[in-house]
Amino acid sequence: MEKLTDLFGSNVFGDDVMRERLPKDVYKELKETIRNGKDLDLDIANAVAHAMKEWALEKGATHFTHWFQPLTGITAEKHDSFISPTKNGGITLEFSGKELIKGEPDASSFPSGGLRATFEARGYTAWDPSSYAFVKENTLCIPTAFCSYSGEVLDKKTPLLRSMEAISKEAKRITKLFGHDNVGSITTTVGCEQEYFLIDKKLFDERKDLKYTGRTLVGARPPKGQELDDHYFGNLRPRVSEFMHDLDIELWKYGIFAKTKHNEVSPSQHEMAPVFTTTNLATDQNQLTMELMKKLAEKHGLACLLQEKPFAGVNGSGKHNNWSISTDTGINLLEPGASPKDNAQFLLFLVAVIKAVDEYQDLLRWSVASPGNDHRLGANEAPPAIVSMFLGDELTDILEAISQDKKADGAEQKSIILGVHVLPDFIKDTTDRNRTSPFAFTGNKFEFRMLGSAASVANPNTVLNTAVADVLGEFADRLEGAKDFGEALRVLVKEEYLAHKRIVFNGNNYSPEWLGEAKKRGLLNLVSSVDAFPVLLADKNVALYEKYKVLNRCELASRVEISFDSYAKTLNIEALTFADMLRKQIIPSANEYLSSILSEIATANAAIPGLAMKSQVELATKISGLVDCLSTKLEEFDSVLLSTHDHSDSESCARAFHDEVLPLMSEIRVVADELELMVDSEYWPIPTYGEMLYSV
Ligand code: ADP
Ligand code: MG
Repeated sequence: MEKLTDLFGSNVFGDDVMRERLPKDVYKELKETIRNGKDLDLDIANAVAHAMKEWALEKGATHFTHWFQPLTGITAEKHDSFISPTKNGGITLEFSGKELIKGEPDASSFPSGGLRATFEARGYTAWDPSSYAFVKENTLCIPTAFCSYSGEVLDKKTPLLRSMEAISKEAKRITKLFGHDNVGSITTTVGCEQEYFLIDKKLFDERKDLKYTGRTLVGARPPKGQELDDHYFGNLRPRVSEFMHDLDIELWKYGIFAKTKHNEVSPSQHEMAPVFTTTNLATDQNQLTMELMKKLAEKHGLACLLQEKPFAGVNGSGKHNNWSISTDTGINLLEPGASPKDNAQFLLFLVAVIKAVDEYQDLLRWSVASPGNDHRLGANEAPPAIVSMFLGDELTDILEAISQDKKADGAEQKSIILGVHVLPDFIKDTTDRNRTSPFAFTGNKFEFRMLGSAASVANPNTVLNTAVADVLGEFADRLEGAKDFGEALRVLVKEEYLAHKRIVFNGNNYSPEWLGEAKKRGLLNLVSSVDAFPVLLADKNVALYEKYKVLNRCELASRVEISFDSYAKTLNIEALTFADMLRKQIIPSANEYLSSILSEIATANAAIPGLAMKSQVELATKISGLVDCLSTKLEEFDSVLLSTHDHSDSESCARAFHDEVLPLMSEIRVVADELELMVDSEYWPIPTYGEMLYSV
C-alpha cells in the first residue's frame, strides 16, 4: 500500500499541489481570491485551469464537471470531456479558465420552487475556489455555486458562503473590542458525525420499500432489537470492518480526515466522524462522504442506508453537526480561555449563541425538517422536536451567578470583569455527556444533533452562522460606543442571559415532563415537517436573511414551495410502494399459506373424518380475518390517496399526506406486521427485520 501520508489528499487539487504546480504569482493571486472572496482575473483562471487539467490528466481524468448542490439535497454533475477536435482530424485536450470559472447547465430540470417562472431555463454555475477541486472516477470535479441567469440562487452553497461572510464580519468587530487587532478573518468550523446502516445487498434488493423509499414500510419487530445495548461500540464484524477500512482509504484520498468509526446503538448501525474543517468544505465533504459510502458498500455486497428511519422499533440515524468559530490566528472563540479577558470574550460568544438559538429556534427546526427526519424528531426518539440547549451545570452556574451579580462561588462581585477569573478546567470534561440534548455545548464547540442522516448540512449551518452573526452585530453595536467597556459587557451578558435562559435545559430531553416544562417556557414544538416548513417566511426570518443578503424573500418562498412539493412526492412514493407490496406480495403469500393450511385440514379430514384440527382451523380463521382486513383497508387507502390529487397547491397536498395518508399507512402496517408473525417463513415473500438487521 502507498504510504498513508502520500495517499492522503491524492485525489485533491489542494494547497500543496497548487503551490507546487502554479507559477508563484498565480498561486499568490489565487490565495488572495480565496481569502477575500475577490473575483478571479481571467489570466489567473487560465493558468489555474491549465495546471488543474495537467494534474487531472495524470490522475487518469478524461472529463470535467462543475459539481454543485441544487435544492434536491444531493449533488449534481454534468460531465464534459477535455477533448477538442483539431483541424486535421485529431484531438487536443483543452480546459480554459472560462470553463473553470463558469458552467451553464440547464436549470429547468432542477427544482426552483416557482422561481423558474421568472427566469430563463438557463442557469450557471460558478467556481467556489475555497473548496478544492478533485478527481472522482476519471472526472475532474469543480465545486461550484448554482444560480439562475437573472441571479436567483438555486443551490445550498451560495447562501452558506454568504452566511460565512456575515459571521466573519460581525465576529471580527467583537474580537477587535477585545484587542485582537491582527485577526484577518473568522470562520466557522464543522465536523459531522455521520450515522448509517449496512445490510446485505441481496436482502436489500428483495425489498421494494428499501429500494424505492430507503426505509422499510412493513416488518414485524425481531425477537432481539437493541435492548441489550450490545451493539454500541461492540466488535466490528469482519465485513463491516473491511468496508470501513476501504471507506477510510477512499475518504483520505479525497482529503477527508476520516478519524473515528464505531458501531452505533441499533444492530447494523454504524458511525463515521471526520476531523472538523471549514464549514463549506465540511459541507462538500459530507456530501462526498455519503456518496462514497453508498458506492463502496455495493463493492462489498452491502447496501448502505442513509435514510433517517430505515427500521421501526430500533434507533434511526442522525448526523451530529459539531460547530465552532475560529479566528485565522488560531483562536477557537468557543473555547473557555486561560485569562479573565479571554473568558469574558468566551462568555460573550456563548451568550450570543444562546440568544441566537432562542430567537431562531424556528429556523433551526426548519433547517432539519424532512419527511425522513419526522420519524425521529417527532417520535420519542433522540432528540425531540423542541429546540433547547445544554450548557452543563458549571457553565450554567457561572451565567446564573453573573445574572445575580455574584461571583461563581456565591460572593458578591461586581468589579472584576464579569466576576469570573479563570473558568475551571473541568468544563471541557463534564459538558459533553448529555446525549439527549438537541444542541449541546461540548467543551469548545456546540453539537447540533437534530440533523437527519441523509440531509445536507448546508441549511443548518447557514441558519447558525447568520443568526449568530446577527446577534454578534447587535452586541458590537452596543459595546463599540460604551464608555466603560467592562461594565457594559457585564450588563449585556447579564441582560441577554436573563432574556434567553429559557432555552437552556440541562435535564433529560426525553422525559415526558420536559414537554410540559418547555410549553410553560414558551418554547416551540413543531412536531412535523409540514409545521416547520412555513416558518422560513416569518417576517423576522425573512428580515434576518435579507439583512445579510443570504437569500431574499422570493428565494425563501421558493424553498418553502420546494419543501412542501418534495414532501408530498416522497410520501406519495411511499404510499404507492406500500400498497404495491401489500397487494402483490404480502396478501398473495398469506393466501397461499392459507390454502396450504386449508388443504392440510381437508386431507386430514378425508383420512380421519371428523378430526377437529383445532389449532389449524384457528390459525386459518385468524389469517383469513387479517387478509380481509388488509384488503378492506387498502380500498380505503386507495381512495384517500386519490383524494390527495384534489389539492392544487403543494402545501395543502403535503398536509393531506401528513394528516390522512401517513396515519392510515401506520394503521394498516400494524395488520400486515401481525400477519407476518403468523405466516410460515417459507411463504413470507420478503426478508424480515431479523434477517436484515443480523445479515452482515
Ligand atoms: P463525541 O463525544 O460526540 O463523539 P468527539 O470529540 O469525538 O465527540 O468529536 C466529534 C466531532 O466534533 C468530530 O468530528 C470533531 O472533529 C468535531 N470537532 C471537534 N472540535 C471542533 C471544532 N472546534 N469545530 C467543529 N467541530 C469540531
Ligand atoms: Mg457526538
